[in-house]
Amino acid sequence: MLSERDRELIAAARDAIKRRYRNDWQEVGAALRTRDGRIYAGVNLDAYLGRMAVCAEAVALGRAITEGGETGIDTIVAVRHPEPTDAQQDIVVVSPCGSCRELIWDYDRNARVIVPSANGPVVAAIGELLPNKYSRERTL
Ligand SMILES: [Zn+2]
Repeated sequence: MLSERDRELIAAARDAIKRRYRNDWQEVGAALRTRDGRIYAGVNLDAYLGRMAVCAEAVALGRAITEGGETGIDTIVAVRHPEPTDAQQDIVVVSPCGSCRELIWDYDRNARVIVPSANGPVVAAIGELLPNKYSRERTL
């Protein structure tokens, strides 16, 4: 079950992409709550050169570190804005991509992540979403 604070975080992510949506450029919003309780939101940066694109989660984390000096992630969520031609016009919670799972784990291995499920958004631990995380070492 989502808490009131979790719903507040989803609302912050939705608000960010609602305000900044641009078709093909900004389509995903993210919001995170730092360990000290502050909320930072961000939107993705798509790019003509695809490999330069940056996910919304990374932008939100960059804001938290730059503006708040806080690197710990209590909870994080991403939401996707529909494209104009989509049949469904709801802003929905989406799972973080594999790279973002690595990033989230790097900054807070105890982070909670709000992800979609058949019964609506639920909370998962980053460790559950990233078994056998990448490591340069032979052992963890
Ligand atoms: Zn990502």
